[in-house]
Amino acid sequence: MMQLRRPSPPSERPSSILTLDERVQPEPVVRAVKLSKRYRTGSVTVEALRAIDVQIEPGELVAIMGPSGCGKTTLLNCLAGLEGDFTGDIWINGASLRSLSDRARARLRARSTGYIFQTFNLLPTLNVVENVEMPLLITGTRGGEARKRALAILDAVGLSDRVAHRPSALSGGQHPRVAIARALVNRPAIVFADEPTGNLDSDSARQVMNLIQTLNAEQGQAFVIVTHSPEIAERARRIIRMQDGRIISDQRRQPEWVSLPHDAIDDIAAGE
Ligand code: ADP
Ligand code: MG
Repeated sequence: MMQLRRPSPPSERPSSILTLDERVQPEPVVRAVKLSKRYRTGSVTVEALRAIDVQIEPGELVAIMGPSGCGKTTLLNCLAGLEGDFTGDIWINGASLRSLSDRARARLRARSTGYIFQTFNLLPTLNVVENVEMPLLITGTRGGEARKRALAILDAVGLSDRVAHRPSALSGGQHPRVAIARALVNRPAIVFADEPTGNLDSDSARQVMNLIQTLNAEQGQAFVIVTHSPEIAERARRIIRMQDGRIISDQRRQPEWVSLPHDAIDDIAAGE
């Protein structure tokens, strides 16, 4: 029979016994402990990241801000498992990147993360749906299923009528939508975006953020977005500020203080 009793303090319990509170704590999607990264170019060494401790919880929408050169892209690349040469450790979905081979790390990355590059990196010789289904084909999803899922996510980002277009035939505001669809098609636990609105006019930037906010709310992926734009950061529930390779502040806000994308649904319907 189950008995309810008050949990004893952690120090008096064997580690295998958890209280209910401890059991419902979600595992962070990504965690870094004492993460440092240096670049050596000839005799010059740059300390790009200095003993960073950070964790991202499931479903969070996080903005990373800070002056150019402070280490934002390096942090994003490390947390996304794109960078093998660092000190400290990083866990993605509980798996330590230190303990994995390059191949296993690539597999974990493909399965659990999505990445929206600053220049979107769409393949020019492939059309929109072929670009989007690529991560699925790489991880072994069969062609028919990959196509079905790519079309579904393209529908969700409002690009159903552009699936056969090459990237060169798309408007500037449509490129990030394809990149977002490609990053999400594997249903990753976390999506990283490096200044996804940096090269867009303010209207397109607003629409991209509306889309990210809507997808974050509807599909539950965590998003970590590097941005210079206070309006973009305004949409995040958490803002991490960096300077000189360190996190200098990490603020969480109550949901009611976050601006909501009232016009997001209209944008998606319009496919703009
Ligand atoms: P941010 O994205 O905030 O502008 P980065 O992460 O790109 O900053 O760069 C952090 C620091 O590391 C900068 O001083 C930059 O010059 C340096 N750096 C970045 N990438 C390399 C590289 N591949 N080789 C040498 N130095 C680099
Ligand atoms: Mg950068």
